[in-house]
Amino acid sequence: MRIAAGLIFAGAVSLCASGVAWSQTPAPKGAAVPQAAPAPAPAKAACANPNALGIARVVEIDTTGGPGFGFEHFKQLDFLRDHEVVLTFDDGPWPLNTPSVLKTLAEECTTGIFFPIGKHSTYYPEILKQVAAAGHTIGSHTWSHATLTNKKLTEDQRKEEIEKGFSAVKWALGTSPSPFFRFPALQHPPEMVTYLGTRNIAMFSCDLDSFDFKARNAQQVIDVTMKKLDKLGKGIILMHDFHKHTAEALPELMHRLKAGGYKVVKMIPKAPVQTLPQYDDEVLKDTKLPTVSSRPVSSVVQTISE
Ligand SMILES: [Zn+2]
Repeated sequence: MRIAAGLIFAGAVSLCASGVAWSQTPAPKGAAVPQAAPAPAPAKAACANPNALGIARVVEIDTTGGPGFGFEHFKQLDFLRDHEVVLTFDDGPWPLNTPSVLKTLAEECTTGIFFPIGKHSTYYPEILKQVAAAGHTIGSHTWSHATLTNKKLTEDQRKEEIEKGFSAVKWALGTSPSPFFRFPALQHPPEMVTYLGTRNIAMFSCDLDSFDFKARNAQQVIDVTMKKLDKLGKGIILMHDFHKHTAEALPELMHRLKAGGYKVVKMIPKAPVQTLPQYDDEVLKDTKLPTVSSRPVSSVVQTISE
């Protein structure tokens, strides 16, 4: 069961692919605007596939005040045009399946938003680095995928799940991820929605759920997704790079999107997330991870392609 948490305000969506900027909702006056950082370059430079799905446009998100996206819970910021989609992937990074998803997206010269689990990021930082290197947008999906509406959790524990998730992704990447967050199981406790607003972190529900985690095979992932998409005509699609059936379904799903006239929109933040030092420290302490400086270079730097 899912619980709607109401509407989130503020935040701006800017179109930056064409050089034309517009603001859908101005950021509140006087709000702290995180220091702008160079946005990752759109991955559209050299596409070897002439029939690739590609990237139709790039939108930059001002996450001031914690805007919410995805009509299943947040209905204010409707920025997608007809037949536009945003591809999103949860619960990684994970061996085999995440690299398989990356391979398909690279072949289609397109990108998505990845919402990794903090613990998984500490298990497989090298896979998460590959996600970043491929030009995808990376947010967070809590430290341990705890359902934050669970009444047994204190408010501090819920905040810790959120903050340690971002700190773990930062540790794995060696740089701050995007201030983009997705609640596990799309369960939105209102006080954490408010908290994320104070942290200037955007929240992502979805417009359509592929239900890939329930699918019996790859074909079912394709059928469910396309049926919902054809009905809605556009939307933020929720999938899981963690799941084998999703990885298997993705090549055909990309072909179906292209054949159906759908176009991919890439979402990037105006500025990276500002993690909190105490949680950066907790990630190091709790997992007894070595600091980067104490690791041999071979465990830090890997050649992905030459
Ligand atoms: Zn999840």
